[in-house]
Amino acid sequence: MMQDQLQRFLFENADIRGDLVHLDATWQAVLEKHDYAPPVRELLGQAMAAALLLSATLRKQGRLTIQIQGEGPVSFLVVECTAERTLRGLAHADEDVTTTDLRELVGKGRLAITLEPDAEGERYQSIVELTGATLAEAIENYLERSEQLDTRLWLAVDQARAAGLLVQRLPESGRAGDDDAWNRICHLSGTITGRELLDLPARNIIHRLYHEEDVRVFEPEPVCFRCGCSRERVANMLRTLGHAEVRSILADEGSVRVTCEFCNHKYEFDAVDSEQLFAADYLRAAPPTRQ
Ligand SMILES: [Zn+2]
Repeated sequence: MMQDQLQRFLFENADIRGDLVHLDATWQAVLEKHDYAPPVRELLGQAMAAALLLSATLRKQGRLTIQIQGEGPVSFLVVECTAERTLRGLAHADEDVTTTDLRELVGKGRLAITLEPDAEGERYQSIVELTGATLAEAIENYLERSEQLDTRLWLAVDQARAAGLLVQRLPESGRAGDDDAWNRICHLSGTITGRELLDLPARNIIHRLYHEEDVRVFEPEPVCFRCGCSRERVANMLRTLGHAEVRSILADEGSVRVTCEFCNHKYEFDAVDSEQLFAADYLRAAPPTRQ
């Protein structure tokens, strides 16, 4: 049975890392929230696998977000991956999309990748124009421009699963013969088919592709779907909307209802709840009392 997991590996003598991901229940959890046209589904699954692969390469633990905004049938897509290897994602798209070419799906678009470290450190975001016929190409182009680390990605998606393979030259790489190793490993990696990527367990893929290389395989890490939404976060969002706006919604609707788009969880704030949101603000704003 396939599992949701991230499998890291390292080419011992080449300063090249590899990562393989398989998303099974995680992918199903995303699909059961919304109905997507097949090309949109494929793009979203690719973005899920890619986010996890990229998050595995981070030197600082944190949340990684891939966001696409476009003028084509897919106007918005976002995937978030945490350091705990939890994922969530969604897309806004037309219902009757048929093209699978990224340039037609998204049209003139932008790709943003954001890193938010868990501990100290600055939030980092880089935005580039979306280029390439596939998401893997678009991300490779992005990395080439922003990170200067040679990275290649292969992504595959079907109804049941999303999967991906990444190879990356480590920054300390620079030994003689490294170009040969990099070219050889890229070539070997490129012989994987989408079907193999989806159907074979990670260890079989590593053996099939790199059985002549010296590969160290790490313990696989579990991956799952989890939405980070909470009543507290929705409350904060409503506070930023402002008291007047919330009162106006209450007057029209009787209560404030917010549905999380990632997980479809419904949050409701009645008149009393809503007033409390802002009452707490006044308390906080009050000067501290002297003892
Ligand atoms: Zn949620």
